[in-house]
Amino acid sequence: MQKRIFITGASRGIGAAIAGYLADQGCRVVGTTRDVSKLGDDAPKHQNLTLISMDVTDTTSIGKAVAAAQKEMGGVDVLINNAGISHLGPFEEMPDEQGRAIMETNFFGLIDVIKAVVPVMREAGTGLILNISSLGGRVGVPFQSYYVASKFALEGWSEAARMELETQGIDLVIVEPGDIKTDITSHHLLCEIDSPNYMEIYENTCRIVRGNVAHAGPPEDVAKVIYKIIRKKRPGVRYPAGKGAKMLSFLLTVVPDRLVERLVKKSYGLA
Ligand code: NDP
Repeated sequence: MQKRIFITGASRGIGAAIAGYLADQGCRVVGTTRDVSKLGDDAPKHQNLTLISMDVTDTTSIGKAVAAAQKEMGGVDVLINNAGISHLGPFEEMPDEQGRAIMETNFFGLIDVIKAVVPVMREAGTGLILNISSLGGRVGVPFQSYYVASKFALEGWSEAARMELETQGIDLVIVEPGDIKTDITSHHLLCEIDSPNYMEIYENTCRIVRGNVAHAGPPEDVAKVIYKIIRKKRPGVRYPAGKGAKMLSFLLTVVPDRLVERLVKKSYGLA
C-alpha cells in the first residue's frame, strides 16, 4: 500500500519509528524536524523517507513544508500530527512562557498544520488525519498540568473537527499512546523550583515519570497501531497505543473519577 504520508516530528522517538515503519511498508514519507541542518548521524534514514524543516509554531514554515511535501509526493494521503513537547513542574512555579509554549506547540501548532494540509486533501477528495494525543489527554497527572491541558484540548478539538472534516471527505482520528520509551524526558521543559512548597514530592514524581518512560514499550508499538488505522475503510474516533494502553483506556471509561484519581496519585508517588 503506497500511501503518501506527511508526519511532523519525525527526527526521533515515536515520529521516527512511525516514519521508518511506514516507509518499510512501502509508503512514501515526508517527515519534519525543526531544522534539518541540525540532524545528527542518528537521524532516521530510508529510501522512502525525506526529512524537511518545519516548526509547527511558525505558519510560514508550515506553508513552505506542506508545499515541499506536495511537490515531493504529488499530494498527501495521510497527515500524522506527532510533534509535541512536554514539561515537568508545579503549575504555580512554572514560568508563564513555558505553559504557553506547550499550548502553542501541542495544540495551536497542530491545528495550523491541519489548516495547511486540508486544502490539499480536499482537492484530492480524500484524506486521513491522525492526531497524536496521549492517555494524558483523558486523565490528569501531577506536575504535567499544561501538557495534559494541551492534550485534553486536542481531544475536544479533534472530536469537533472530525465531524466538520467528514463533510469534506476527510477522516480524523485521535491516537492515545501510554508511556513509550523515547527521549521525551530529556527534552522536557523543566522548571526551577525556588520555594520548598513542592520540592520533595516534585522531585520524587520526576524520578517516577523518568522511570516509567525508561521502562515503557518501544515506539514501534505506536507505529503498528498507526499502520492498522491507515488501512481501515472507516476508522473510529480514538485508538490507544502501546503496552497496557488499551486496558488503561477502558478503565478510564468505567472506573469512577475518585478512584482513578487515587490510582494516579499512588502511581505518581503522591499517595
Ligand atoms: P520526542 O521528544 O522524542 O520527539 C518530539 C518530536 O517533536 C521531535 O521530532 C521534535 O523535532 C518535534 N518537535 C518538537 N517541537 C516542535 C516544533 N515546535 N515544531 C516541529 N517539531 C517539533 O517525543 P516523543 O517521540 O516521545 O513524542 C511524540 C509525540 O507523542 C508527542 O506529541 C507526545 O506528546 C506524544 N506522546 C509521547 C509519549 C511518550 O511516553 N513518549 C506518551 C504519550 C504521547 P526536533 O526537535 O527535531 O525539531
